[in-house]
Amino acid sequence: MIKDNYGRAVSYLRLSVTDRCNLNCFYCRPCKNMRFIPHDQILTYEDMFRLLGVVSEMDVQKVRLTGGEPFARRDILYFLNRIKDDFPRLDIRVTTNATLIAGKIRALKDIGIKGLNISLDTLDPNKYAEITGRNSLDNVLTSIDRCLEEGIRVKVNVVALKGVNDDELEGFVNLAMTKPLDVRFIEFMPIGQKTLWNKEHFWPAREIIRGIGMLTGLNSVDQPVVNNGPARIYSLDQGAGRIGIISPLSNHFCGTCNRLRITADGRLRTCLFSDKDYRLLPLIRSSKISRERLKAVLEKAGMKKPMGHELVEQKNGKSTSFCKRVMSSIGG
Ligand code: SAM
Repeated sequence: MIKDNYGRAVSYLRLSVTDRCNLNCFYCRPCKNMRFIPHDQILTYEDMFRLLGVVSEMDVQKVRLTGGEPFARRDILYFLNRIKDDFPRLDIRVTTNATLIAGKIRALKDIGIKGLNISLDTLDPNKYAEITGRNSLDNVLTSIDRCLEEGIRVKVNVVALKGVNDDELEGFVNLAMTKPLDVRFIEFMPIGQKTLWNKEHFWPAREIIRGIGMLTGLNSVDQPVVNNGPARIYSLDQGAGRIGIISPLSNHFCGTCNRLRITADGRLRTCLFSDKDYRLLPLIRSSKISRERLKAVLEKAGMKKPMGHELVEQKNGKSTSFCKRVMSSIGG
């Protein structure tokens, strides 16, 4: 088991399978001429299997594939299938922009994917194109419906951006009212050296909750303390779905953080907000490094997992960005 010096146990791994994305969301990859990680420095599927074999013996129970856009990586269904075959007890999830999944939803169901987190920051087609650089809103909405038909749980992730989508609260509440899915608002975080984050764009969780409360009745849902996600969940009076609030800035959840992140180039990050990472790729690829040795490295790194909010407080006033790497290369 991977346990840190604060007594938090790691049971959840976020694995970035690529740093490439078919969308260009302005807040995620603000730099127009993004340099991608060269192919030979990206974890291969074999590398990832080796890693998953090791962590699954260390009490990691849940793996989320993220990116970049996971479905932009070639043969991703083959990879998901093999994970399911080789690690049947692992709970596999995927975070996606859902623009590339249209023909794959039945296959995802057959593989046993229980849930998808789908990023969608607006319900307005023109705004969607402005935010992402593509005209794919209809495609995404259709795929959400298809997932629900197949019984795949959907969490719609909305990055809360004042001046961009704060006028759409009613539309998103209506989505959660009419469909059996969670709409989760995530506070915009200053991630990446060239982040466009500023106070004017920051739409804090308490304002979102207050705004929703003016539209409908909100009832806080009790969540288990262990292995609980970062969202505070609310049911809606007479709603088919629910609302979630993720507030890394205004109300952090570091005390219950149970996750580690692996970037597409095989670096272990113990905290989203810390640029301190551990280069695992050469160890994973080396035939001289045993599984036991890899486990020891993970245990040692895991022990040093910091309290993210302390890092954020230390940085306060010194720089607007919490860390140098952009979100698309960390995996969110
Ligand atoms: N391409 C996939 C997707 O769109 O869901 C997975 C990768 S994306 C980096 C993961 C999540 O991070 C998305 O929900 C995205 O909106 C979110 N994200 C990116 N930059 C962010 C920021 N600065 N603050 C908050 N969330 C952010």
